[in-house]
Amino acid sequence: MSNKVNRAQQWRLFISNFIGFTVIFVLLGVIVFVLFRNAMLTSTDQALRVERTSRLSGAPVAKKPIDQGKPGHRVQTSRAIHPFMTTTLIFNDAGKITNHAQLGSRYDTLKNIHLDTSQVGQLHTIQVGGKYNFRTLLVRVPKTNADKMVAGKYLLIMENIDPQKAAMSNFTRVLLITMGVFWLLSILMSIWMSRLTMRPILKSWGRQTEFVGNAAHELRTPLTIIQNKLELLLTKPNDKIIDQAENIAIANSESQRLQKLTQDLLALARSDSNTLQTNFEGTHVASFLQRTVEPYTEIAASQGKKLVLAPVVDFKATLDQNLIHQLMNILIDNALKYSPQGSTITLSAKVVGRKWQLIVADQGIGVNDADRKRIFDRFYRVDSSRSRQTGGNGLGLSIAHWIVDLHHGNIVVKPNQPHGSQFVTTLPLTPASGLSGRHDKPRG
Ligand code: ADP
Repeated sequence: MSNKVNRAQQWRLFISNFIGFTVIFVLLGVIVFVLFRNAMLTSTDQALRVERTSRLSGAPVAKKPIDQGKPGHRVQTSRAIHPFMTTTLIFNDAGKITNHAQLGSRYDTLKNIHLDTSQVGQLHTIQVGGKYNFRTLLVRVPKTNADKMVAGKYLLIMENIDPQKAAMSNFTRVLLITMGVFWLLSILMSIWMSRLTMRPILKSWGRQTEFVGNAAHELRTPLTIIQNKLELLLTKPNDKIIDQAENIAIANSESQRLQKLTQDLLALARSDSNTLQTNFEGTHVASFLQRTVEPYTEIAASQGKKLVLAPVVDFKATLDQNLIHQLMNILIDNALKYSPQGSTITLSAKVVGRKWQLIVADQGIGVNDADRKRIFDRFYRVDSSRSRQTGGNGLGLSIAHWIVDLHHGNIVVKPNQPHGSQFVTTLPLTPASGLSGRHDKPRG
């Protein structure tokens, strides 16, 4: 089922990437095409306007046909920007071409052009004889014009644009081929990008599924025990509490276990959703540790163990007191859980360069090399039967790791001498900015 969902998601990502690429390529193609076409016509239109100005100024124009074989190519004017490409048709009011003598053999082709007086002042692209392309500008010359030949006439100034047309169609072909190649490349790119995007999603999906499965499993066990014990009590309605004290005590301890488990799950859920409100403040570490450790010394003593806070040279560090308190709670609780009676747990803190270290060392069972990294994973327990007895659920160190991450620090476990383990937490004295913004998730 999840595979199907993932494939559908990946497919959707691929399609959206591909559509995105296609839109970009098409837009790019259209923009390049339009710009290129405009750039091509700009100089032609400029030439037409110069010719118009020149004609309207009324100065006589020396024209001589120099190649009568090719229409649209060869009337030389002294003022035109493109003298060899500019042709002018002179129409009278009746729409008849009056300069056919100058046009020579080209007249046969050009005679089909009709005068449309509504187009005066407008630029147009026309095709003549089925193959010659011109850019045209129609001009109405006032009767007062000094050049009698054109006074009171209509001039159709024409620039042959066959070379531009050819260049344009070459360019369009190259553009289409390039876009096609890139469009095909964009398919590969979209596949690669959708896979890349899906990778972290799949990873966190897997983790989430595993987490939910583990959480359900952990919740089911104490619930089943409580249910069994309650059902047992119901079968003996006449018993006194003292007769069933053991069953009640078991149900009670399982309900406490449930409470601890739900608290931990809640903490992890909060960390996952990044909704935790942090409160970082400058703290005198020595007195903070003193205050925090005190209640645990009594608990340790009640278990026949010793909890010692090594003398700390006072220094100030920026930290979230509640979270560091929770971290110490987890580490001290573990140290007590996994050490025998009569052993000593030592807590110490010191400044190391621009960081400070909090070390919780015990003389307990220790952690072997293989488990050293994994114990920070969610629900990981070295010996689940043992940690069941001690009430562990494998979430404590995962939460500890997240708290340390939140402070931009790191936590490692090392062997203690002669036996036991040392949990060394290294935290910056003044963590970098952005502390309250982003909260990384606990491991697992
Ligand atoms: P738990 O609730 O099971 O203690 P934790 O995440 O706190 O879960 O710890 C994970 C596992 O790491 C524990 O089950 C235990 O096997 C191991 N561990 C943690 N602290 C210690 C310690 N001080 N000494 C030995 N093993 C430890």
